[in-house]
Amino acid sequence: MKLTNINTIKDLLMRHGFTFTKSLGQNFLINPSVCPRMAAAVTGVGNPKHASTGTVVEIGAGIGVLTRELSKVADKVIVIEIDETLKPILAETLADCDNVEIIWGDVLKLNLHEIITQPVHVCANLPYYAATHIIMQLLESGLPVRSITAMVQEEVAQRFTALPGSKQYGIVGVITRYFAEPKQLFKVSRGSFMPSPNVDSAVIQLIINNEQLIMHDEKKLFKLIKAAFSERRKQLCNPVSKEFGIEKEAVKAALEHIGMNSTARAEELGLNEFIKLYERILVE
Ligand code: SAM
Repeated sequence: MKLTNINTIKDLLMRHGFTFTKSLGQNFLINPSVCPRMAAAVTGVGNPKHASTGTVVEIGAGIGVLTRELSKVADKVIVIEIDETLKPILAETLADCDNVEIIWGDVLKLNLHEIITQPVHVCANLPYYAATHIIMQLLESGLPVRSITAMVQEEVAQRFTALPGSKQYGIVGVITRYFAEPKQLFKVSRGSFMPSPNVDSAVIQLIINNEQLIMHDEKKLFKLIKAAFSERRKQLCNPVSKEFGIEKEAVKAALEHIGMNSTARAEELGLNEFIKLYERILVE
């Protein structure tokens, strides 16, 4: 069964009386080259000889097109899907995939610590409405996730990979670099999906840092980053001084001490500068 063939999909959906739920971001992949490329990207993580990929966690099975590709390269695939009307379809399309386990539920509500108990790679064509939220939750959860390979809207991909000074650079870009090394792998046009969304997409890959930075108080660092970007067009000394009740002049002096201009805006600071600023003004 070719799950990227439009007639096959239409027949499958009709036989099972399935209708798309727009609010669940149900845009299924119909471009035959995309899922094999995503699966190969997962296999390649830190593993050029293509030894075992171990367990892969997928979020959002749809009709199982990516799940089938992942099942070929992984020892085990755990796929989390919210829409139980897909049950009879997946029973048919994944019938011959012995290494796939489906967990029915909302990835944002399930206790992932009970599901992901050993190192895994995450690979998913994420529902647009929750893509950033899902990735940030995975990064901040402390789960044993080694990499995240994800299809997201192109604009969201730019936010995850943005560097200081660019228009897309913001909270997501800085906090992502605290946990991982992000890169964009390839673009995917809107015509690669059924139904076709209004925007193009891109596959990004976040390789989780082997050695996590040891912060005195990680949450406080993120609070500093969020405060700094809360008025991104203004000098960051203003919102930071307000958020933490520190004299503006002290924030300016700290900025100069770390080699930045005292009038710097948030978008000029990379993760390292934010860490240095945090150490200067927020660590006793
Ligand atoms: N993997 C399939 C593909 O590539 O064709 C489907 C991708 S589709 C963009 C997103 C999938 O995520 C849908 O099957 C949708 O039902 C599911 N989904 C949406 N929100 C979810 C949530 N909160 N938790 C788990 N699955 C979700």
